[in-house]
Amino acid sequence: MGSEEANAFDAKDAPKIAGELRESFASGKTRSYEWRTSQLKTILKILDNHEQDMILALRSDLSKPEMESYIQEIAMLKNSCKATLKSLKGWMVPEKAKTSMTTFPSSAEIVSEPLGVILIISAWNYPFYLSIDPVIGAIAAGNAVVLKPSEVSPASSALLAKLLKEYMDTSCVRVVEGAVAETAALLQQKWDKICYTGNGRVGRIVMEAAAKHLTPVLLELGGKSPVVVDSDVNLKFATHAVTFYVKVATRRIIAGKWGCNNGQACISPDYIITTKDFAPKLVDSLKEVLEKFYGKNPLESKDLSRIVNSNHFARLMKLLDEEKVSGKVVHGGERNETDLKIAPTILLDVPRDSLIMTEEIFGPLLPIITVEKVEESYDIINSGPKPLAAYLFTSNEKLKKQFVMTISAGGVVVNDTTIHLAVVTLPFGGVGESGMGAYHGKFSFEAFSHKKAVVYRSFVADAAVRYPPYTKGKLSL
Ligand code: NAD
Repeated sequence: MGSEEANAFDAKDAPKIAGELRESFASGKTRSYEWRTSQLKTILKILDNHEQDMILALRSDLSKPEMESYIQEIAMLKNSCKATLKSLKGWMVPEKAKTSMTTFPSSAEIVSEPLGVILIISAWNYPFYLSIDPVIGAIAAGNAVVLKPSEVSPASSALLAKLLKEYMDTSCVRVVEGAVAETAALLQQKWDKICYTGNGRVGRIVMEAAAKHLTPVLLELGGKSPVVVDSDVNLKFATHAVTFYVKVATRRIIAGKWGCNNGQACISPDYIITTKDFAPKLVDSLKEVLEKFYGKNPLESKDLSRIVNSNHFARLMKLLDEEKVSGKVVHGGERNETDLKIAPTILLDVPRDSLIMTEEIFGPLLPIITVEKVEESYDIINSGPKPLAAYLFTSNEKLKKQFVMTISAGGVVVNDTTIHLAVVTLPFGGVGESGMGAYHGKFSFEAFSHKKAVVYRSFVADAAVRYPPYTKGKLSL
């Protein structure tokens, strides 16, 4: 695991850590605007000063291409932090609320107060973004924070522990490294909110532990995010439009799948649904663009992340080599177990009851299932657990509206993939089995605040009708 100092966390120290942070929170220090902004500016400083260290850690954990590391982790965090700093003062101002005749004369407001001490447990696939972004929200809302990064990305986890210890106010912001035993010890403590990012199995463990203390949870989970590709394009521009449409759709599907950690991203396209007649055209286009992006031997490409570890490699091989899907590979399938590399792989017409169509893939395999009419996709998607994201490519306005209204998913993007994550004015979160609650931007501030209802009354107009004895005369008033 990580650095020697960071390794200092021992499961039996969990109560001490929780106690120390609770004391700091009780001192009131984290509530001031000045403390919040100084910590957020410190995060920006860490991001500026240690960009290269983060890129190297991501290379060590995932062989992640530098450009992806910068755009998808560092730049995203800088934007989030800057946007929060810009708006925080406004978010902290109590919101006026209308009162009614019942309470006349009075005024009312909604005051956002910090919840207290927040536990953030994050995942390995975007180890910096998934750790620091909720920390930004928790600090902005005036809380103390304990962050537990993932042991599956040890270099990033160690760097987070080292940098946050070196730069941040450690009386209120603490990083503890650890795996299952350490996380379980943390989960036994009382927190004021737990923010967990990862799979649904552990999500259930987190929720069970939280229930013991009636602690609210923000669960950022995953699922099978579909991409529906419609063959109907606006033919106003004749045949060129068809080619243009397929090419743009292809590039954007590839960027969201293989361009995001080689498919190891929670909102990466998991599978495609398209019409039988359109599938060959889409497959040809995917093959052509994949070769352009990653060359003839993608296992050698420097622009593709590796699989994070041998357990995940074996898990993906099991999905790929299942008897039900053997023979369905129409592109890729190459692997290098020593380097933990898997080439972008496309499978066509896989059975819906195969493993690859029933489990979240979380890797570079992309199955395509075909239908007669694109509208059949609604039942296919809605018959499974609600996905974290759903994507549609079409120029048909009616279909766009239908899709948005019919598909229940954490988020929907029409004519692109994954980019909703970068829109800080949108909430990010799942629904059903893909998660509970949402964060990003103002939604992070709200996720880590309590909206306190406050009424200010005057001593005048103290209506007698409210008090006993409840005489008939008072009723007729
Ligand atoms: P992971 O293995 O890093 O686990 C996540 C966290 O849970 C880690 O900090 C780990 O230490 C902890 N953990 C693991 N087992 C535990 C246990 N038994 N008890 C307590 N804590 C435990 O990550 P993962 O689960 O492999 O992540 C992949 C999943 O996360 C996918 O399903 C993906 O879709 C989802 N995900 C969701 C988001 C999102 O924002 N919604 C982002 C990234 C990943």
